[in-house]
Amino acid sequence: EAAKARFVARNPASLKLHQEAAKSLPGGNTRSLLHTAPFPVFLKKGKGYQVTSEDGHVYTDLVGEMTAGLFGHSQPLIQEALIATIRDTGLNLGGTTKLEAQHASLLCSRFSLDLVRFTNSGTEANLHAIQGAKRFTGKRNVVVFTGGYHGGCYSFPEHKPAENCVDMEEWIIAEYNDIKDTKRKIEESGDVAAVLVEGMQGHGPCIVASHEFLHQIQESARKVGAVFILDEVMTSRLSSGGLQRLEGLQPDMTTMGKYLGGGVTFGCFGGRDDIMQVYDPRAGNALGHSGTFNNNTLGMVAGYTGMSQVYTPDVARDFNAMGDKLRGRLQELSHSTKMTITGRGTILGIHFLADGKKELKSFRDRKDETELRELFWFEMMEHGFWVVKRGMIALILGTPWEELERFEGCIVQFLRRHES
Ligand code: PLP
Repeated sequence: EAAKARFVARNPASLKLHQEAAKSLPGGNTRSLLHTAPFPVFLKKGKGYQVTSEDGHVYTDLVGEMTAGLFGHSQPLIQEALIATIRDTGLNLGGTTKLEAQHASLLCSRFSLDLVRFTNSGTEANLHAIQGAKRFTGKRNVVVFTGGYHGGCYSFPEHKPAENCVDMEEWIIAEYNDIKDTKRKIEESGDVAAVLVEGMQGHGPCIVASHEFLHQIQESARKVGAVFILDEVMTSRLSSGGLQRLEGLQPDMTTMGKYLGGGVTFGCFGGRDDIMQVYDPRAGNALGHSGTFNNNTLGMVAGYTGMSQVYTPDVARDFNAMGDKLRGRLQELSHSTKMTITGRGTILGIHFLADGKKELKSFRDRKDETELRELFWFEMMEHGFWVVKRGMIALILGTPWEELERFEGCIVQFLRRHES
């Protein structure tokens, strides 16, 4: 209660803006994830690794726009490229441009993609990949996993996605990291068009799949002729070739988005040539895939600039090594405390688990200590760290190591104060 009272006292401008926003947005919100009680802090601007609130507080951004903000706010090269595009090219031309082929070619060279198509978001990328897999296989069912998140309408927090808009008849829900259950569901269910899985479940946050589990999915999908779709919307940043490269996977299709658009709205899906051919408009009965903004010039240019000039393979390697170093240190200090650290590379999950588990294999295992988690959020915000309540950290390029050490120091103090 004291932490909450301090929060309210520190953020009067945000409270006022929230009350105003609630007159035209449900709960004053248009991204459910960003809602926080008692009200969200309103942000005014971002620069580099920092964001500034409407109340004038400056935060070190550890949200990293849920991995999409990898480049930081207003990255100079991307900013320049965007300004030049607005000035010299135009926003959306209503025609094909060479910009999209340029970005597509770069993506195909980095990931396991023969051909790729663009969308406006990761959600749409998954929607189209599933549709493509159904057309390619002539089958209907899709195997997904408890705790999986594939976009606003495609989340599977419990055993059935009760509150979203998917038609449950088509979905088979298997247990994450459970090889036996997964193998059985893929191989014995029949009529399986696709298996859709994240290499690390972001919603967990950050529940990591085992190498064996992912390879079993690949093998079982191949066995029954189902399309193995790896959702790399978050994990594509874990190396210059994504998690698939780290794990030696060759998914039939991959879905991506987030930072690959350089900070502009973006998504893409692609994979094996024979599957992606279903979208070739030169064929007689091609599957339609349209979208007014699919090839918007800003996303194409920002994405290409970010990938070719900023997030080069060397930068990707060093950046993720920094994330591993931070996670290692936090894991070390979490021994014999209620905190558990999960994740890979530059994406970390901070948990407070009632049963003191140190490893999380599935979303179902997660017994959250909500009060401690809330308190953590209030206190880290007070110390000037921009964090999401559910505890996912996505690092930003250019964040000084000293700031991450300061974060570590604040965690140590927090644990000391609240461990009992
Ligand atoms: N898939 C995964 C694994 C995600 O983490 C997300 C977003 O967080 C999505 C899909 C949806 O992407 P978008 O928010 O761009 O629609």
